[in-house]
Amino acid sequence: MSGRSWTFVSMSLACATPVTMAATSSAPLMRFTRLTSVVRTVLWDIRQRFSPRPMPASVDVMDLFDPVLFEQLVALRRDIHRHPELSWNETRTALRICEFLEQHGIANQKDVAGTGVVANIPAATGAPIIALRADTDALPIHEETGLPFASEVDGVMHACGHDGHTSMLLGAAVLLARGPDLPAPVRLIFQPAEELGRGAPAMIDAGVLDGVGMIFGGHLDRHYPTGTVIVTDGPVNAASDRFSIEIRGSGGHAARPHETVDAVVVGSLLVIAI
Ligand SMILES: [Zn+2]
Repeated sequence: MSGRSWTFVSMSLACATPVTMAATSSAPLMRFTRLTSVVRTVLWDIRQRFSPRPMPASVDVMDLFDPVLFEQLVALRRDIHRHPELSWNETRTALRICEFLEQHGIANQKDVAGTGVVANIPAATGAPIIALRADTDALPIHEETGLPFASEVDGVMHACGHDGHTSMLLGAAVLLARGPDLPAPVRLIFQPAEELGRGAPAMIDAGVLDGVGMIFGGHLDRHYPTGTVIVTDGPVNAASDRFSIEIRGSGGHAARPHETVDAVVVGSLLVIAI
């Protein structure tokens, strides 16, 4: 990747919960439409960077709305929610992704870095590729929501919203593939094993960022009002990472603890201080 200029833009896509996203009232329809509108607006923005052209005065977001597609996405998201899969085991999820893409005429490549899926939407321009990324794995948590589409797998749940991310990216894929001609080619990256922090490097090693000039990642976030889309330049969410701290104590007699350095006490204070 040396010698290449990378711009990472993080999007936090706010929804009260993935559940509200799957409701069928007009509010979520508007949110879905708004989201796809944002994606197109961002793409226009990017085209301005590489190939300046007059921008349309306005974009009518309702032009993008498709109630049939929306219902398909709700059904797909609930199906994925019912069948959550842990990191590196997302085989059924990958199959559903590929099926959906193929139903909508979007060529795709599966088994990327194991259980990843990649699809490309071409454009007539030679602009660098814009990548949109979703994660696909679930967590080792037992679902107790009582929802009609709750997890059918004991001890595994889509508790982080990746079922929503996957469905949203598929919706964006279909709308972007419909045209009009895109200002830049778009690559859709369905990344496994986000929860382990290992899926992204594995996908990069597999070459999914080759030719990519900019990448967008999104995450549902219940801390913002439903229907809000937060876009910012640079990192917005914490990364999964590990570190170790070594605390060295000093022993002594139990009757004189003040003459020792108790590593347990220091460790306890350290946890609070952090
Ligand atoms: Zn997550």
